[in-house]
Amino acid sequence: MEQTLVVVKPDGVARGLTGQIISRLEKVGLKLVAGKLIQATKELAEKHYPAERGELWEGIGQKTLKNYQSLGVDPQALLGTADPKEIGKMVRVWLLEYIASGPVFAAVIEGPHAVELVRKLAGNTLPFLSAPGTIRGDLSFDSAYLANTAKRAIKNLLHASGTLDEAKYEVPLWFTPEELVKYERTDEKAMR
Ligand code: GDP
Ligand code: MG
Repeated sequence: MEQTLVVVKPDGVARGLTGQIISRLEKVGLKLVAGKLIQATKELAEKHYPAERGELWEGIGQKTLKNYQSLGVDPQALLGTADPKEIGKMVRVWLLEYIASGPVFAAVIEGPHAVELVRKLAGNTLPFLSAPGTIRGDLSFDSAYLANTAKRAIKNLLHASGTLDEAKYEVPLWFTPEELVKYERTDEKAMR
């Protein structure tokens, strides 16, 4: 049994997709155990995307470089640098702006293999590569190229914890223990 953090990002809330996104998670048997519509503060955004996670930002920079290479785009010309660490830092600033740019719906989702299941249902980070049937693949088309050109984060509708360790760090960041609710779903017995 795992708990994972889901945040419907400002584009998802603004497009009226909150219910649909949560519903897709509930439909597979995952349980909503906490949820709230909030405006993230700059402080929460900074903690959610910690600057100290150098490997995460460098990885994002690498992803951008790969994407650019496949498109034949010169990163130096578009972003002023070809250093993955520098690109990662740039993306982090855009992400802080994005996550705090409007209301988000934060939720905790519980179930067996919840972290991996939610990632699968969310789809690839880059919506233009997300498979049909996934939330990002069905509901968006954004890419690193489009986002970086506009100097903003990729609008991919939701955040979902990437690993169980990430979930264990993120859930208490967004929710107090009292906000997590225990209840039984009527279909639980049938699915066991
Ligand atoms: P996720 O776990 O699938 O959300 O992806 P990551 O943890 O790798 O990245 C965090 C968020 O940063 C993504 O959801 C995107 O909104 C944004 N992002 C990731 N890669 C890029 C990129 O190359 N360019 C831009 N502009 N944003 C990115
Ligand atoms: Mg992530």
